[in-house]
Amino acid sequence: MPPLDRRNALRELLASAGLDAALVTSHSNVRYLTGFTGSNGAVLVSADGTDLLASDGRYVEQAREEAPDAEFVLDRAVAAGLLGRAARAGLTTVGFEAHEVSVELHGELVGLGPVLRPLGRAVEGLRTTKDDEELALLRTACELTDAALDELRDGVRVGATERELARRLETRFHELGADGAAFETIVAGGPNSAVPHHVPTDRPLEAGDLLKVDCGARYRGYCADTTRTWVVGAPPADWQRELHALVAAAQRAGIAALRPGADVRDVDAAARSVVEAAGHGEHFGHGLGHGVGLDIHEAPLLAATSEGRLSPRVPVTVEPGVYLPGRGGVRIEDVLLVRERPAGTTDEEPLPLTRTERDLLSVG
Ligand code: ZN
Ligand code: ZN
Repeated sequence: MPPLDRRNALRELLASAGLDAALVTSHSNVRYLTGFTGSNGAVLVSADGTDLLASDGRYVEQAREEAPDAEFVLDRAVAAGLLGRAARAGLTTVGFEAHEVSVELHGELVGLGPVLRPLGRAVEGLRTTKDDEELALLRTACELTDAALDELRDGVRVGATERELARRLETRFHELGADGAAFETIVAGGPNSAVPHHVPTDRPLEAGDLLKVDCGARYRGYCADTTRTWVVGAPPADWQRELHALVAAAQRAGIAALRPGADVRDVDAAARSVVEAAGHGEHFGHGLGHGVGLDIHEAPLLAATSEGRLSPRVPVTVEPGVYLPGRGGVRIEDVLLVRERPAGTTDEEPLPLTRTERDLLSVG
């Protein structure tokens, strides 16, 4: 979908919200609405059909190239510059992203004339459902991630450190054509695998370790996210097998619950109940999953504390984990696309976008 169509979708929301324009300052939202990827940018989408993109002198050429259909405004103070223009154009009520604007910036904006009203997460709401172009980019991000992860798995050896493996993986993302890593790669061996968001260390892998790798490539802005857990240099022990089988069963239950219209809490509960029934509820201390797109974590959140229903064209992760402090943990994570029933079938299965081997493999 061209950026203009996305801005028009936002424009349609302005009238019902009683706004003359929306001032968008979130980096990912600016990118979504214009294609502009610079680090300093804001966009003003007006009900009258005018779209202004502001940035500073470093980005003049880039903005023209990436966002040819938005009028460029050269102003280092991007938000204030656009709001000043809105005031001069006679706009009286402007929505702003209260969840992104600092108190300091808000203080600068209130004196410029237009009444400011919170826009809410309107653009994030539009971003939840992906168009064909976004899905193609996300699919590529997932394929690159799978390829790099397969290579990493084949090269794991006892004695390698977590930091070495993380670096090797992120280098491969670049070599395969990705923008880079979508987030800090997690490589966690042995007892460290019990820490859900472990930061890689210089600990060398030992035979019999669980090895948990959580990673994702970013491709033209779109973020993949997958986790695999293996055993290093030895056949899996019984407790490792049982733990992995439990998490795999929880993931299958969560995936089976990913239907258009499903309540996000019910999807979380479908997987969590499997873990709880095995007596490990307290060892699964995070939500089941999250949306992915231009941000690594975006709506919808699949969690007991979340709200909302799934729709077709929404990619989400399903990532149950069970972590035994001091011993080790297992997480299995994939990106899946919630989809409508393909014509002529009763099949509503979500489409897996990450696909590397999920079984508990012995590596190295
Ligand atoms: Zn992850
Ligand atoms: Zn994730």
